[in-house]
Formats: sequence, C-alpha cells, structure tokens
Amino acid sequence: MDESFSICDNCGEEILKLNFIIHNIACNKIFCKCCICSIIIKKEDLYMHMQDHQSVICSCGMKMQKKEHSNHQSNDCVNRNVLCDYCELEVPLSNLDEHVIECGSRTDVCEKCNNRFVLMDLKIHICYECPMCSKSYPNLDHYQLHIYDKHSDI
Ligand SMILES: [Zn+2]
Ligand SMILES: [Zn+2]
Ligand SMILES: [Zn+2]
Ligand SMILES: [Zn+2]
Ligand SMILES: [Zn+2]
Ligand SMILES: [Zn+2]
Repeated sequence: MDESFSICDNCGEEILKLNFIIHNIACNKIFCKCCICSIIIKKEDLYMHMQDHQSVICSCGMKMQKKEHSNHQSNDCVNRNVLCDYCELEVPLSNLDEHVIECGSRTDVCEKCNNRFVLMDLKIHICYECPMCSKSYPNLDHYQLHIYDKHSDI
C-alpha cells in the first residue's frame, strides 16, 4: 500500500496523508457511522436511516425492523395479499382458504365444451377435443361415443 495514504476511520476512504487532518475534521462533520449496521452515512441522512432500524409491529403481530417490513409484507406476512386463482382478486392470506371455498364454488361455462362447472372443477377438467369437428367433451366416454357415433365411418 502506498505510504503516502492513510485510511480514514470515519468514511473508509484512502486519504492523502498530507490532507489527513483536514479531511478528518471535515469528514467528521459530514459523515458518521451507523452504530447498528456500521455503514458510513451522511449525518444529515442519519435520522432517516435510524428510522429504518426502528422496530415496527406488523398487522400479523410480528416485530421487525422498519426496513424489513415492506419485504415481509410482500413475501412472508400471513396477512399479505395473494391472488385468488378463481376471481384474480387480492385476498389476505389469512382469509384465502375461506375465500377460495366460496369463490371456487361459483360456476362458469367452459368455452370449449360448453358445460357448466364449479370453478374448482373447471380449472382442472380436461376437454377432449374432436380432431374432426372440434367439438369438445369433458368426459372421455362421451368423447369416444361421439367419435364412434359421428366419425366411425371414416
Ligand atoms: Zn473520511
Ligand atoms: Zn444502520
Ligand atoms: Zn406481517
Ligand atoms: Zn376469488
Ligand atoms: Zn370444457
Ligand atoms: Zn367430431
């Protein structure tokens, strides 16, 4: 390491030894170290920064640092909102089961086979589409019957 430089304790920069004292005075006026996370920060920003270290209590009852809160709310919180598979509304996770049971028991018509299903079944049912006339059947037996009935002579 170059002998003419020293590391400033306050900001961690390499400072020309000649300027060290002057830098140190100026540096101490402007920068300081956060005593919690040890980052170097401008004194004027310290107040805002300390806010991040303050603990908050989330609506789920968990205590955490403020800066972790938004991350927690979108990823871990049991009260976070998640998309319902059936209506694509955001629902709090804690209510999701209840919501899905209600929401998923609504019925809708399948665009392919024109049969009405409870949404939970609509999501998972398989339409068998006739390659000859593109009629669809949600039931393999009906599909085979259709093939046999209409297209067996081909
Ligand atoms: Zn410095
Ligand atoms: Zn800090
Ligand atoms: Zn939470
Ligand atoms: Zn829903
Ligand atoms: Zn269908
Ligand atoms: Zn057909």
